[in-house]
Amino acid sequence: MSKKLKRLCTPGQIGTMWLKNRMIMPAMGTNLGNADGTISDNIVNYYAKRAAGGIGLVITEVCSPEHEGICIPGEMEIGEIKFMPGLSRIPHAVHANGGKVALQLAHAGCFAIETLTGVRPKTPSGIGSLQVPDENPREISIEEIEDLITKYGIAAERGKRCGYDAIELHGAHGYLPLQFFSPYTNRRQDEYGGSNENRARFALNVIREIKRKTGDDYPLIYRMSGAEYVQDGFTTEMACELAKWVEEAGADAIHVSAGTWDARIQNFFDVMADKLNPDGLDLTEGIGTSVWVPNHYTRPGSLKHLAAEIKKHVSIPVIAVGSITPEMGEEILEKGEADFIAFGRQSIADPEFPNKIMEGRAEDIRVCLRCNECLAEVMANCGLLCAVNPEAGQEYEVYIENKKAVDAKRVAVVGGGPAGMQAAITASERGHQVDLFEKTDSLGGQLYYASIPDFKLEFKNYLNYLILTVEKSSVNIQYNTEVDLEFLKKENYDEVIVATGANPLIADVIEGNKEDILDPLAILDGKQAVSDNVIVCGGGLVGCEVALLLAEQGKQVKMLDLLDGIAPGMAIYSKWVLQARLKEAGVEIYPYHQITKMSKNKVEATNLKTSEGITLEAKDVICCLGMSSDRKLLDDLIEDGTLSFTPVGDVNKARKIMQATQEAYAAARLI
Ligand code: SF4
Repeated sequence: MSKKLKRLCTPGQIGTMWLKNRMIMPAMGTNLGNADGTISDNIVNYYAKRAAGGIGLVITEVCSPEHEGICIPGEMEIGEIKFMPGLSRIPHAVHANGGKVALQLAHAGCFAIETLTGVRPKTPSGIGSLQVPDENPREISIEEIEDLITKYGIAAERGKRCGYDAIELHGAHGYLPLQFFSPYTNRRQDEYGGSNENRARFALNVIREIKRKTGDDYPLIYRMSGAEYVQDGFTTEMACELAKWVEEAGADAIHVSAGTWDARIQNFFDVMADKLNPDGLDLTEGIGTSVWVPNHYTRPGSLKHLAAEIKKHVSIPVIAVGSITPEMGEEILEKGEADFIAFGRQSIADPEFPNKIMEGRAEDIRVCLRCNECLAEVMANCGLLCAVNPEAGQEYEVYIENKKAVDAKRVAVVGGGPAGMQAAITASERGHQVDLFEKTDSLGGQLYYASIPDFKLEFKNYLNYLILTVEKSSVNIQYNTEVDLEFLKKENYDEVIVATGANPLIADVIEGNKEDILDPLAILDGKQAVSDNVIVCGGGLVGCEVALLLAEQGKQVKMLDLLDGIAPGMAIYSKWVLQARLKEAGVEIYPYHQITKMSKNKVEATNLKTSEGITLEAKDVICCLGMSSDRKLLDDLIEDGTLSFTPVGDVNKARKIMQATQEAYAAARLI
């Protein structure tokens, strides 16, 4: 057991449910179910893998008590008996792997999707969600409320019969119990609207009904938002009052998250500063739902103060969540600010992380980047994927195929960036003899530069994880070694993985000396001094992060881009916060501008909307117009045609870590 993280490793209790440690996997959407709401092999293995990784409790993703409450294609359902055989496969698989599992019951209310349910969404007062502007919700009647409370009870009883160890009732993030409690979405005048007590009635009646149907000794967790972050929404003070009533109604634990789908935070720095009730909330402006999926542009643990506040008002266990690191979780437990810690995306990135903590080897944890690429996949109605865990969402396929290779081969991996390191690690795990060639004196490639700004701490941790893992493996690393076709042929490798990456593009609009234009990678690396007044050409990810880094150092920064928005392709939940930070730091952004000339102190561009030309002047100009694949070795291998090889990562096309990881893993798995 980890001595440093001993509280996380200590067993705990929620009602009658004994848990082997204080680590919980919260509910997160996966889109891994079948389109008809039934359970797939993939989803069973996804949860089984997390249980095998040592997590104390798995909480499943949303499962609606009735078909009318679904909002995602393929969402799990329990509204009919026919779903029970499939649903019971999850607890069977989790228990077989030594874990416990709670079924989360969640009704989408106003953001249920009519094209999925066949009926108009029903809500407390007919108020819709900004997230689904095409829906046409209606007010739910008293009879329907009572019917729905009964359905929650039936669903919970079915969950118990299926073998789940507990139920979690989802009353956070805008799900129906929150819609009732929110003064913004609930304008009713009957016993379910008006006062705090009346608005809480729906959640409390559902809790009582679940307890009536499942028994007092069957554990029930209530998930709630510690603040709504919506204009005229509920405050933390109101949430504390609700928490007390939830305990009185019979819940055995409270799981404290934040926000709703429509949450807008005008100033996310308020949240980062632990303000319980940020001022000036306005639904029309600000940061969106990223409040409960805090990304790497926000500090870790940005919601933990809400759990601490709720904990002061209840005696049942409290679960804290929201980008909490293991060390931070240990501190929260030590201070008594919560009783359990939920690790969401970390459970996706490394399902083995609880075992690693329990075994005292936290340094082996594959760190979640908080990049939200997983969420972006799910929101795009695709199945879950992860930027750093190539097996996430593909547990079924990978489980049966990722075995030791029958014939151990000699493999050359050329390039020590994230793709090269992932390929080398996977190939060596499968028993191959791997030589990894890196032309510089250190591993990392583009990931090294991406990990430099202080707002990219997780990227630095991930880089360290990759280096440590490859160093601990049987991979033979050769630094300062540039290999060519001739060398590879002479060595007669069985397989070559080409991971030579990409380099910054040299713009063809530069006038004068190209050396006068600053290189973003050299700036990130601290090798190039920058004046206090700069123009960043290009608003892709590199351009934005260089602009942010310099602006937050107090420099005056202008940034131009061809497109309307910044950082195309970045997960929207991360982009919102990046935009806010750029704005806060005072970066002047010129969207829709085609750069026509670039020189040492001047940039000329054309506004693509108005066709007007502009000239911007500064002391320095930085070119961030993209990356160009380093294809020399790849093209030689293609032309020669005698060696077996696979290109992976940016050598194919400069993209994100997710593609590098996926391609590298697949290539190594197929050798
Ligand atoms: S995709 Fe990114 S945020 Fe999601 S689990 Fe993986 S590393 Fe974490």
